[in-house]
Amino acid sequence: MTPRDQPPELSAPVEDYLKAIYELEQSGAAAGTNELAARLHIAPASVSGMVRRLADQELIAHERYKGARLTDAGRRAALRTIRRHRVIETYLTQALGYPWDLVHDEAERLEHACSDELVDRMAAAIGEPEHDPHGAPIPTREGTVDERRFSSIADLQVGDEALVRRVSDENGERLRYLAELGIVPGVQLTLIDRAPFEGPITVAIGAAHQVIGTSLATEVLVERLSMPIRSPGTPLAPGRRKDARSRRTP
Ligand SMILES: [Zn+2]
Repeated sequence: MTPRDQPPELSAPVEDYLKAIYELEQSGAAAGTNELAARLHIAPASVSGMVRRLADQELIAHERYKGARLTDAGRRAALRTIRRHRVIETYLTQALGYPWDLVHDEAERLEHACSDELVDRMAAAIGEPEHDPHGAPIPTREGTVDERRFSSIADLQVGDEALVRRVSDENGERLRYLAELGIVPGVQLTLIDRAPFEGPITVAIGAAHQVIGTSLATEVLVERLSMPIRSPGTPLAPGRRKDARSRRTP
């Protein structure tokens, strides 16, 4: 790809739509009218007009029953806005000492006002960070980004060890609470108990035990470090036989 060719000027609402569609695609959900409306906190009726305009500008393509999909141009534009957002959050935290629960709202506003040049200089000033304070990957200038998907604490089984990778950045109160519990990106934890029927989940972080509800647990994305001994549903016999065979090999 050529170095950043002159990107088109997009309005703040267009950038917000593209970002929302990108995030829905990443979560595996369809970007339909209702999903977009919920994500953008607006009425579904006002979504359709904008979606038509984005399709006219070839930023999205519309697939029946599947909702909007970003075109290559739409994806580049979405990643540019996301880069601005995440660099701003990181800069505010690292260079200006903002706490991690206060940077999202600032970034929501500034991401539309900053030039790409300013954002590049902010990133350079703090050593080209790869993740924002909430653990989200920062797209490069060239528009590449780590799109690995992680499971959440709620997906872990008892005994699983996991590394906290990312937390949702949108709710400051939840972020403050998670920080109080010590559940922040980079921390290693072990799931030691989960009550049935989506009851509370207990994790150990070092010597401390923390209890969180399932809804909060789904917002904390983790990389599993240990696999369960035997995943449920795996028949035991073939594994045993394979073991026996491998033990026989010299
Ligand atoms: Zn944010």
